[in-house]
Amino acid sequence: MSPVLVLGTVAIDSVETPFGRKKAVLGGSASYAAYSASFFAPVRLVACVGSDFPERYTRVLRERPIDTAGLERVPHERTFRWRGRYGADLGEATTLATHLNVLERFNPNIPLDYLDTPCVFLANIDPVIQERVLNHLKPRWVVLDSMNYWIQHKRKDLLRVAKRADLVVLNDAEARGLAQEASLVHAARRLKKFGLKRLIIKKGEHGALLFEDDKFFLAPAYPQPATVDPTGCGDAFAGGLTGFLASQKKITRRLLRRSVIAGSVMASFTIEDFGLKRLRRLTHAEIRNRLTEFHDLIRC
Ligand code: AMP
Repeated sequence: MSPVLVLGTVAIDSVETPFGRKKAVLGGSASYAAYSASFFAPVRLVACVGSDFPERYTRVLRERPIDTAGLERVPHERTFRWRGRYGADLGEATTLATHLNVLERFNPNIPLDYLDTPCVFLANIDPVIQERVLNHLKPRWVVLDSMNYWIQHKRKDLLRVAKRADLVVLNDAEARGLAQEASLVHAARRLKKFGLKRLIIKKGEHGALLFEDDKFFLAPAYPQPATVDPTGCGDAFAGGLTGFLASQKKITRRLLRRSVIAGSVMASFTIEDFGLKRLRRLTHAEIRNRLTEFHDLIRC
């Protein structure tokens, strides 16, 4: 089983959903992605935090097979902080505040023993940092995620690094924004014209579309009745998908489709509680059961 290198944010989040508020909890794209991927493959984390980052949060990451040698603690800096709110439908988050802090000057120091990692997940972070990390590596397979913040602020940089990924994961609004196209089908085709190799468009509770070689594969989302906090669902989806791919000897078209289902299953658990709470108590048996349930759901 190959390890996965996960680059992204390790953050301090404050979140409001219709089910409650949580202040200063462990979050960030890399935390969710690493946690989720670690159920399928060992993870090598590349991220940075400030001196205000609680040591107990590092211990939470180490509860799983996540190597934190690449988690840099920068003195006299503050950790990346994000504040968001979800409305009644728990659809898209409204970002109330983004404080880049330590991220503004982050120049990742990749541990030497990470350099040969075959599978890489460039989770949501400044695309310039994604590119910098990719320049040091020679991976077999690269998955990339981003979000509206970077599409608005660094679209050109994002398109440049996205072309180097084997698979780009975006939600529907992000795909439309990056392609500057209203129709999802046209957006997918336009992004392919820009040079993106493969694309997954997440449609929240309506599932995800995989676009490859001008063909679409549609996977539904797990019908989840117990939703509490959607924060990190996208990261858990892409992290789980990448971990699943890393656990395979070869990546085939069929396994790529299966990875979408593995990602959906991990997202469906993440949403069941605040922050990383549900993933922290998740078991492999629960994942296996839900994968079986999911396959039954789409069999006809
Ligand atoms: P998701 O719900 O999967 O889109 O991801 C939520 C996580 O993304 C939160 O834990 C945030 O800390 C993190 N996040 C929010 N904004 C950004 C950003 N601009 N860049 C990187 N990570 C972010």
